[in-house]
Amino acid sequence: MTQIDEKLEPILVEVLHRNAGEPEFHQAVREVFESLGRVVAKHPTYIEHALIERICEPERQIIFRVPWVDDQGNVQINRGFRVQFNSALGPYKGGIRFHPSVNLGIIKFLGFEQIFKNALTGLPIGGGKGGSDFNPHGRSDGEVMRFCQSFMTELHRHLGEYIDVPAGDIGVGKREIGYMFGQYKRLTNRYESGVLTGKDLAYGGSRARREATGYGATYFVERMLGTKNESFDGKRVVVSGSGNVAIYTIEKVIAFGGKVVACSDSSGYVVDENGIDLGLLKEIKEVRRERISEYARRKGSGVEHVAGGSIWDVPCDVAMPSATQNELTGRDARVLVKNGVIAVGEGANMPCTPEAVSTFQKAGVLFAPGKAANAGGVATSALEMQQNASRDSWSFARTEDRLAQIMNNIHDACAETAEEYGAPGNYVLGANIAGFVRVADAMDALGVI
Ligand code: NDP
Repeated sequence: MTQIDEKLEPILVEVLHRNAGEPEFHQAVREVFESLGRVVAKHPTYIEHALIERICEPERQIIFRVPWVDDQGNVQINRGFRVQFNSALGPYKGGIRFHPSVNLGIIKFLGFEQIFKNALTGLPIGGGKGGSDFNPHGRSDGEVMRFCQSFMTELHRHLGEYIDVPAGDIGVGKREIGYMFGQYKRLTNRYESGVLTGKDLAYGGSRARREATGYGATYFVERMLGTKNESFDGKRVVVSGSGNVAIYTIEKVIAFGGKVVACSDSSGYVVDENGIDLGLLKEIKEVRRERISEYARRKGSGVEHVAGGSIWDVPCDVAMPSATQNELTGRDARVLVKNGVIAVGEGANMPCTPEAVSTFQKAGVLFAPGKAANAGGVATSALEMQQNASRDSWSFARTEDRLAQIMNNIHDACAETAEEYGAPGNYVLGANIAGFVRVADAMDALGVI
């Protein structure tokens, strides 16, 4: 673990103490603190004006009961969360996650990361995150709709296009966004398109939003590889997950000439040495909502399905963890390094454990942290807000061009900041400092609020 600067150490101890029992939040905060020593040495006002303490304390946290009735007529109770972390740069912005593992600590870790990620995009958006411990797997459309309506019945009073603008995340795609937008519209009697992003094209969605996180992560890693005169062309790539981020990462890697040989879901992974058949994967995951084993069953011989186990045992040149937090451990990182990995790009939020990150950095593997590499999703959400506000709808090409430009800018800001602070090639440090400085300067200008 990297040493924390002596001025920051007591602040960290206090943050950990005040937020007991939230290990993922602690992990995310510690990682940012590890990068800030050189910043506070240069700019003591960040300590004097308590900007670091303030940034670690959410502006508002909402926790609520979500009652709904299942198809058998039983009453079910879930818990809903929205953490409105920081609005110095714009309305709170960040996704909603439906997964049984969701708790306050996980939403706080995601909201905290979101502050810096959103700042890195250069767009006027603050940071927030929400979700519920509801598990959509195995639920009928009717059950998902009733859950989403109940969730929004409470949440709607805290949202607004100038207040807080949620989007999707794990377990929340265009179906769930549609049900939530419908209920918001009914409750408020307002057609406020800009209150949610990730909407369907039929009612105010943006072209390329569905693709944006995966495409954006691939653009980032392609540019990072370029700093070593490398590219995806001809590379063997492993992408974990098979949800929104993973599928569109696979699509763009293929477009850049790479071959994706493995992907996964929470039940296991598949290895297809001919390259993942994207059409089949989309049908299984986006249309039929089936398990990944179905891919191997449909392909027949030559495709291996491994139940459980680690997808990171599959040798590759580039690894793109795109499923969930802490899915790639120190042990996995050592296997990847032994197998010759040259670059790792985090499509998911915090998928690599701190031990894995330091293993990659020590081995000289190019490493792109999620808060920079997966910022394309939220950036395109901000473009969706822009289109909604101007009652406009951009072409796919125009939106993707903006996305590519934003990802290249984020890459360059991270690389230049790392260089400026004496750690060339350290994208973790570059992302943390560049994001932090933008938010902290805005907070400072707004006074003590
Ligand atoms: P999806 O729900 O579309 O897909 C998630 C994928 O990850 C599924 O294949 C899921 O498998 C798998 N998964 C989830 N939990 C686990 C687990 N514990 N072990 C192994 N696999 C798991 O979510 P997204 O693709 O939207 O999100 C993936 C990651 O990217 C998350 O970390 C999210 O926060 C991050 N992200 C998403 C953005 C977006 O625009 N969607 C933007 C920025 C970051 P199964 O179906 O079996 O659960």
